[in-house]
Amino acid sequence: MVLWSTDDVTLPPTETRVMAVFRQIEEDTCINFTARSNHTSYLLIRQGWRGCWASSLGYPGPNRKVTVQLGRGCVWPSIIQHEILHALGYPHEHSRPDRDNHITVKWENIQPGRGAQFVKNMRYPTVEEVPYDYSSVMHYGKRAFSRNRQPTLEPNVELDGRLGGRRMSELDKLKVNIFYECPTDSGVAV
Ligand SMILES: [Zn+2]
Repeated sequence: MVLWSTDDVTLPPTETRVMAVFRQIEEDTCINFTARSNHTSYLLIRQGWRGCWASSLGYPGPNRKVTVQLGRGCVWPSIIQHEILHALGYPHEHSRPDRDNHITVKWENIQPGRGAQFVKNMRYPTVEEVPYDYSSVMHYGKRAFSRNRQPTLEPNVELDGRLGGRRMSELDKLKVNIFYECPTDSGVAV
């Protein structure tokens, strides 16, 4: 169960879209999103600040909250899904420890100061169980944070389709199900 709440500047249309994403994730996994009452550990959905981000990876431990910031331009299903998956514990797909087998990072094309977005994350869960997924909603597009319109991420294979998905892929659902130890009859088969 994931407890969540909004702050008082989060607008009702945003809340409606976030709820739709929650319901979709509930349908595809065994995770349940439940409104917080007086709990101190929870997922805070907020839109008062700038940018689209999650404050940390992983659902909070005792007395800790994870903030999902949905500023202007962030209130779209793909971005909400992406940030919620960060909050649930998932780093970017292109930062998987095994990513070099699948993708090449073009460091020379990355905007100054943005390199951290492309560093491997050794805490990525379910690397053993779920294959690399070019169409993950957690994968950046080809020219993400490019300083010169040249690719920052180059697939090592000929790709059929675009890099980075606009919604949770079947493998995204599968990895959440494995990570949260969902029973096999919830959503997708594990
Ligand atoms: Zn992200």
